[in-house]
Amino acid sequence: MSRPPRPTIPVISAYRVKRAAVRNRYTAQYACPFDECGLTLKSSEEEIGETEHCPYCGTVFRLDRQPLALQRKRDEDDKEAGRERRLQAKQERNQQKRASEEIRQNARRQRDEQKNADRERRARELEASKRETEHPKNKEEGSPHPVRKRVIQVGTVLLLILFYFSFGFFVVQPIGAIPDGVTIFYFRLGTNLPFVGSPDGLLIDKDLPVSLLGRGVVLAAISKRIAERRIVNLPYLKPLYLWSTGWREFDR
Ligand SMILES: [Zn+2]
Repeated sequence: MSRPPRPTIPVISAYRVKRAAVRNRYTAQYACPFDECGLTLKSSEEEIGETEHCPYCGTVFRLDRQPLALQRKRDEDDKEAGRERRLQAKQERNQQKRASEEIRQNARRQRDEQKNADRERRARELEASKRETEHPKNKEEGSPHPVRKRVIQVGTVLLLILFYFSFGFFVVQPIGAIPDGVTIFYFRLGTNLPFVGSPDGLLIDKDLPVSLLGRGVVLAAISKRIAERRIVNLPYLKPLYLWSTGWREFDR
């Protein structure tokens, strides 16, 4: 069995591939392979690769599919590249958006922080000025205010004066009736007795001789008055006794 001889027909490999603007369709444009004809011919996409003939001279030929496939491949690559470019651009835009959003957020955060700091500072200043108003000249912490110090001094003096005129000490030195002696702290105002008094001291004040009898007389005369005004009994205090006598001591 022998194969029948295959008729050889010209194959056109060089043709212009045109792409229609719509629908992604391709057409081929070429010249008739018969040199004497040379008519410009067109084939649709479906006709490429099929056996054709020139309608003018009748020459049979075939268009190679390769140029169409290459063109299609190039276009698809371009399309893919375009998609990639657009995707990349979109990603870049998103990145920029995120970056600018971050910048805005940072700025806002800084503004808020600054605002808070300002508020706290104002509160501190207000607090400080309040303290300043309460104690205008009290700059150093802990040091008593001069005016306040003065008030305390004057108050202390007034209290001492009040104490001096209101209260008194009456010292009874040890005698037979009171062997250990006693110092009576009492309310003195209106008694006409000295701040620190004693029987001996009163005798001296009246230019009377200090004697046991004299002491007894003085005690009898004033003991009731002092007892009524007594606040507290203290132990015998010799310094106070000496104060009352003008620093003189008398035998018993
Ligand atoms: Zn032809």
